[in-house]
Amino acid sequence: MKPEISLKVNDKFKANFVKGYPLITKESVENIESIRAEGAIVRLTDKQGRFIAKGYCGKQNKGYGWVLTRSEHDMIDQSFIQEKLAAAFVKRQSFFDNAATTAFRVFNGEGDGFGGLTIDYFAGYYLLSWYSEGVYTFKAEVVAALKNLVEFKGIYQKKRFDLKGQYIEEDDFVAGERGDFPLIVKENNVNYAVYLNDGAMTGIFLDQRDVRGKIKEKYAKGKTVLNTFSYTGAFSVAAAIGGAAKTTSVDLAKRSSSKTIEQFSVNGIDYESHDILVMDVFNYFNYAKRKELKFDLVILDPPSFARSKKYTFSTAKDYTNLMKEAIEITEDNGVIVASTNSASFGMKKFKGFIDKAFKELGKKYSIVEEFTLPSDFRVQKEFKEGDYLKVLFVRLQ
Ligand code: SAH
Repeated sequence: MKPEISLKVNDKFKANFVKGYPLITKESVENIESIRAEGAIVRLTDKQGRFIAKGYCGKQNKGYGWVLTRSEHDMIDQSFIQEKLAAAFVKRQSFFDNAATTAFRVFNGEGDGFGGLTIDYFAGYYLLSWYSEGVYTFKAEVVAALKNLVEFKGIYQKKRFDLKGQYIEEDDFVAGERGDFPLIVKENNVNYAVYLNDGAMTGIFLDQRDVRGKIKEKYAKGKTVLNTFSYTGAFSVAAAIGGAAKTTSVDLAKRSSSKTIEQFSVNGIDYESHDILVMDVFNYFNYAKRKELKFDLVILDPPSFARSKKYTFSTAKDYTNLMKEAIEITEDNGVIVASTNSASFGMKKFKGFIDKAFKELGKKYSIVEEFTLPSDFRVQKEFKEGDYLKVLFVRLQ
């Protein structure tokens, strides 16, 4: 049995929890210091001790735990978890039925009723991502539920919390048969090489599927494309398949070069007809300006925070400047794909950063496409912060 603790909700936050707000934050409860055991079951009550909701302790960047139910008699056991998973999988039926795309999210944390856990599907394999030590204590129940619900080749996991020396004896393999990596998945009929057993990332960010699709279908043909913060070059490959005249991928990480070559190669594209550069994006902007290079399509998808030898970048502080750099090397009538996954601000503020960049350069623009998370990354309406992705296609005038 898991330990159970009671937390008293501050009056100001009671209405939120009653309506379905899922995140247990420090400010929202009186005796947060009672949270000691990761994975403990939490009973939220009001000051008078009346039941509000039940959840679990799991400390992650966003808070101290998640609400799971507002029914007092629900037990947080395997059948509870299995019901959540089953409901989530039904909602992804159209993805399972679509042979053109074999990688997508089947369970999206609080958006599917269990914050701290996501499950992605990759061509017959399931990848569990655990975002706190607390949620990891539910592993046996989650794996058993998954085994009851679906056929699979194998199950892998990523522990995306501070391991403090624990659990590291295990590898990422959980059940079924081991994969042969890279695994080749399809997305809108483009191939991507994916690794489920190699560190925190897989090689593709599934939340950008619709953006890659749009670039391929509508914005790439005949264009010169600059992909900054390119990682494994997923946007470059989508553009190349969409008929780009040439792509240039720029990323600081040494591994990005071989990873990008691999993504081109699994699509039968000659990577030598594309530029793949390992360098600081900010140095590249200077280089491009010096050489008077301009691109038809520029993709900007920086991490929320990054530090390189010379520069520290934080999206909330520096997006306007980044955008100005991009504008200066984009052709008139060209398009900038401005993206951020920072949860610390919303779409309105993001549009403000972009507007400011154009104003400061005395240039005009129009927003021609707007994206948030795709439909498999379900968001709970009471928790809009869960929809962290913001992507704008901005056309220079
Ligand atoms: N756009 C990518 C994901 C970007 S992940 C995609 O859709 O797949 C962020 C990447 O930014 C990482 O690969 C990291 O190496 C790179 N990066 C961080 N700071 C950088 C800098 N100053 N210059 C170039 N690349 C940088």
